[in-house]
Amino acid sequence: MSTNTTTRTSLETKVLGRLPDGLLVDGSWRPAADGSTFTVSDPATGQPLARVADAGASDGVAAVDAAARAADRWADTAPRERAEILRRAYELIMAQREEFALLITMEMGKSLEESRSEVTYGAEFLRWFSEEAVRISGRYGTSPEGSGTILVSHRPVGPCFLITPWNFPLAMATRKVAPALAAGCTVVLKPAESTPLTTQLFASVLLEAGVPAGVLNVLTSSRAAELSGPIIQHPELRKLSFTGSTPVGRQLLAQAAPQVLRTSMELGGNAPFLVFDDADVDSAVEGAMRAKFRNIGQACTAANRFLVHADLADDFAERMAERVRSLRIGRGTEPGVTIGPLIDRKALASNTALVQDAVAGGATVLTGGRALDQPGTFFEPTVLTDVPSTARLLDEEIFGPVAAIVPFADEESAIEIANRSEYGLAAYAYTQDLSRAHRLVRRLAVGMIGLNSGVLSNAAAPFGGVKHSGLGREGGAEGIHEYLETVYAFVASA
Ligand code: ADP
Repeated sequence: MSTNTTTRTSLETKVLGRLPDGLLVDGSWRPAADGSTFTVSDPATGQPLARVADAGASDGVAAVDAAARAADRWADTAPRERAEILRRAYELIMAQREEFALLITMEMGKSLEESRSEVTYGAEFLRWFSEEAVRISGRYGTSPEGSGTILVSHRPVGPCFLITPWNFPLAMATRKVAPALAAGCTVVLKPAESTPLTTQLFASVLLEAGVPAGVLNVLTSSRAAELSGPIIQHPELRKLSFTGSTPVGRQLLAQAAPQVLRTSMELGGNAPFLVFDDADVDSAVEGAMRAKFRNIGQACTAANRFLVHADLADDFAERMAERVRSLRIGRGTEPGVTIGPLIDRKALASNTALVQDAVAGGATVLTGGRALDQPGTFFEPTVLTDVPSTARLLDEEIFGPVAAIVPFADEESAIEIANRSEYGLAAYAYTQDLSRAHRLVRRLAVGMIGLNSGVLSNAAAPFGGVKHSGLGREGGAEGIHEYLETVYAFVASA
């Protein structure tokens, strides 16, 4: 692994120096079959951080072969043994929280404080699913006509292919790997091209915690499509779990169809953030800041449209703009920085285009609105009002620090506007009216709702969406069932 050491602190150098070199296949780290590598860069500086192995098709096949060979033995381990391994991994990550946080910030860009929160959140999936591993239970009952006994049990689905995105490099991996291993599945994990380093460190922790050879295979790659095709077609693969954009999710679903793979899809979102006239506005502004600017707006649960009661809209927008003006932009490792860079130039161009489109349609920029003219991919945190209903950013996922504020007249129209999206991942609502809160839970076409809260992710809760936001749930008691088959046996009465 070659690294650029020009402006690095000693901890940064130490963390990069600890990373394993190569692809993890069948328990050992090895180069890509064709020797390819690619460079991982710091989005805040554009400087290279490391070179990593670049897996291709034959590496993919080898990894599924290894996962398939390890499958039966891993499925037969005692649940307690799997639980203990996951629990050890949780402890190991928490003991190295600072190293993980720094690595996340270096390759992804968010502030160190946010990276620390991600480490805590991400590690929690290991602890949660270590606890769930020993609680996989079935059903036992007499058939209604009394002819026999119905026995329902669960067994692991088998080898899984897990594809993760770059926005939460640790948590998106733990959220898939932990339930899969807890259920008794073996896995092939492919991190995003821009953030493979955190996954490498995570994998080395899992090995240290006792995950046997072949149970976890990790393929870093810049050739996602070339690598994934043969993996998905592999006759031994049983499951595909993907987190990423809806267009790629659709492609993967089509690719999974011939093999009739079990699939979990965590795709895009277009979360409405509703502020009713009975809301506690101070707390709504606080929640809005978190729902919008956490992770530099690069979360599928990020608030995409702020729907605010017409009586409050101007005041709310001004208060939000005031808060936004005090955010500090910079490299996430610098003290006090709250807004790091966007992940890459494509993201910068897309945020710029979305704001320009809204402004061309009549939107007013209260603050921000532009890319910074400096190295790195920084976009100013932005608040827009007078946003025309035709603006693309009301339909499309922004994935950046841009808040669009749209007034509404009453509850009925707020719900109608909120549901006007092909997506249905998350929604947020601020209201003091309990009956209204219950109506919103019933009527908003989403998988998750934050009530008087700008954050909702929790390892103990089922994360996932409806409509084009995906299939399946991650986390909670539901999460492990994504990796379990249901088996029914009928036992004739004696
Ligand atoms: P984003 O636009 O947020 O980068 P993507 O959906 O492109 O989201 O990427 C999410 C993950 O999916 C990444 O690991 C990426 O490498 C992977 N990916 C992208 N395209 C494909 C593809 N055609 N086949 C398999 N994986 C893909």
